[in-house]
Amino acid sequence: MEEYDIIIVGAGPAGLTAGIYAGREGLKSLIIEKSVKGGNANTAPVILNYPGFNSIPGLDLLKKMSEQAEKYIEIRENEELLEVQKTNEKLILKTNKSDYTTTAIIFCSGTTYRKLGVKGETEFIGKGISYCSICDGMLFKDRDVIVVGGGNSAAEHALHLHDIGVNVKIIHRRDELRAQEYLIKKLGDEGIPILWNTVLTEIKGDTFVKSVKIHNRETGVDDELNVNGIFIAVGEEPNSRIAGKLGVEINSNNYIVTDKDYRTNIDGVFAAGDVTGGVNQLVVSCGEGAAAAVNAYNYLKQVE
Ligand code: NAP
Repeated sequence: MEEYDIIIVGAGPAGLTAGIYAGREGLKSLIIEKSVKGGNANTAPVILNYPGFNSIPGLDLLKKMSEQAEKYIEIRENEELLEVQKTNEKLILKTNKSDYTTTAIIFCSGTTYRKLGVKGETEFIGKGISYCSICDGMLFKDRDVIVVGGGNSAAEHALHLHDIGVNVKIIHRRDELRAQEYLIKKLGDEGIPILWNTVLTEIKGDTFVKSVKIHNRETGVDDELNVNGIFIAVGEEPNSRIAGKLGVEINSNNYIVTDKDYRTNIDGVFAAGDVTGGVNQLVVSCGEGAAAAVNAYNYLKQVE
């Protein structure tokens, strides 16, 4: 069984920054990532609020972070954490590829896109339904798509799709967006239509999506809209299940609970970034990852 001082779970902004700090402290450390380096931030069409960059695509920023982290720490992609057990002062990790022991672990496991849960959604994923406009947007150039949701992600997806020549409408369940003001203004400036108080009730098609059934919650009117694509942006669910099984405290919204030093209720177990809730901002995730790694280092010094 390979033995480490710190294992970081997740290679998004929090995990990569924690990795830079852990590696630079000279700790025997490893990042395991169930998918690919970068996490959900890879899918951000453009990032306008990360200090030092006026405007940078998510994919480019996360590539830079990954390259920097790999100077100090190994990152193993496509390696999924299945279980963690605690025995005295060691943690035993089982993944789909290997088993490890470590003294400290930092959960930077992020979030997963929430599903709408309507008829047809599972069936048409990859056949007209997408959660990532940067990945799939170009497939819909000059075609009709809807974005479902009213948050920052929905607004950013809609603006990106509009920019690349997709005919896009937003469908939102209420009569106001929760996206930031500058995004709302931009949607208005670009003339992107919004169907207010509207919910999607069914996705229909054959090989690909062809239409959606919609319901207006205010008027009670049902309708059917012909569309070629659907981008779903209805929020995120924290990836906290394995931490929860270990006995880490999880709050009522399924986020990992930490103290101000990013310690959980279990010694040697830390958490940082979106899996702990909060404002879901890249710069905050990076800061939390750094702080968690510094505090994990201090913990290691105490128990050694
Ligand atoms: P979000 O802020 O949670 O918004 C989700 C949206 O989906 C809400 O408008 C919500 O409606 C709607 N919704 C949820 N469940 C639904 C359902 N079953 N059917 C229809 N609509 C549903 O999620 P997000 O936009 O993915 O953003 C996640 C986090 O990342 C947020 O904290 C956000 O601020 C952050 N983020 C920040 C940036 C940025 O700083 N530029 C960019 C992207 C994301 P209601 O409004 O009615 O609840």
